Amino acid sequence: MNALPRTVLRLHLDPIACEGHGLCADLLPEHIALDEWGYPILDDLLRSTPIAPGLVGPARAAVAACPTLALRLRRDPAPARQPGRPRRHPADAADAADH
Ligand code: SF4
Repeated sequence: MNALPRTVLRLHLDPIACEGHGLCADLLPEHIALDEWGYPILDDLLRSTPIAPGLVGPARAAVAACPTLALRLRRDPAPARQPGRPRRHPADAADAADH
């Protein structure tokens, strides 16, 4: 039996292309904050935490609204689950929502 690879949706920011319009933060404040100059802050600047299933629509809207194409939504491999640990990662919640 082949199991499909587990993936999560994440926002990725190209800081060179970003011009600090701030539209993305208006549309997805749950994942994007703005710094004092109006540039977006993701969790580690270039990659955010996985998008929760209920926020995929707003995340797509934020990506579509970006006038410089600096913001992208990509499927990344899900972090490996450690044996014996309870399901707490957002990717696990996404898996549960799919079934
Ligand atoms: S909408 Fe695009 S250009 Fe504007 S702040 Fe967000 S990522 Fe940067």
